[in-house]
Amino acid sequence: SGILATSFVILIILIFAFWVLIRTILRQKTLEEMKSDFTNNITHELKTPIAVAYAANDALLNFNQAEDKTQRDKYLRICQEQLQRLSGLVEQILSMSMERRKTFRLHPEVLSVGDILEPLIEQHTLKSEKPVHISVDIEPEDLALTADRTHFSNIISNLIDNAIKYSPGEAEVNIRCRQINAAEQGKLVEIAISDRGIGIAPEKQSHIFDKFYRVPTGNLHDVKGYGLGLFYVKTMVGKHGGSISVKSEPGKGSTFVVRLNKQADD
Ligand code: ADP
Repeated sequence: SGILATSFVILIILIFAFWVLIRTILRQKTLEEMKSDFTNNITHELKTPIAVAYAANDALLNFNQAEDKTQRDKYLRICQEQLQRLSGLVEQILSMSMERRKTFRLHPEVLSVGDILEPLIEQHTLKSEKPVHISVDIEPEDLALTADRTHFSNIISNLIDNAIKYSPGEAEVNIRCRQINAAEQGKLVEIAISDRGIGIAPEKQSHIFDKFYRVPTGNLHDVKGYGLGLFYVKTMVGKHGGSISVKSEPGKGSTFVVRLNKQADD
């Protein structure tokens, strides 16, 4: 129980450190750019995992040794999940402020598209609370490109996340990866992520890549978010010298198409 008590203390310190970190970043960087919607969203995003972790932690502190061990494991798992959620959020906010620094650099390496996609698909399928079906079609099977591993994974992860989030009920997602031989740009890798979700009205499509922008219906559908995902995606695709576009029809679904050079520029 000594170890357990120590782990609770560490957990509380971690949560507090995350909270301080976020407050510092927001105060220094984006305060003047923040819209009230964003403030509400991000506050909610941060408060929820902290509150859930606290509640689970409380339950652990009051844990009676005679109680079922599986119950204890459940609380520990909840703490773990909420910390992961917080750290994902922090990572994204950090990379947003990092991107503006002159010292920002990509670390390109040769990546197999299939190897990157496989664990992402598994994670998204497992963590989702609703049924998710993700089909993948990569041609050729060993399709590869030169890109930054972390940011390339985050780009794909954000698009899969949205495809699931904005699909009410069951999510049907298709990921189609192809090599294209473009006359001027040389060899490109195209990744198209399609869903059959709520779609995006034509007049909203040009705004969705803006920082903090959220289509109002997103809130109506009670979908959580803070309007940074697509801004991050577009910024990072741009850093890679690539492009992103969207085709969408309200009520039918959306397809996001990312095109990246197969080889790094330099
Ligand atoms: P967030 O999802 O956190 O709100 P994003 O920057 O990822 O922020 O997306 C901006 C907005 O674009 C979303 O709020 C949503 O309205 C819309 N959107 C993004 N992806 C999809 C999608 N696959 N289907 C429908 N709407 C989407």
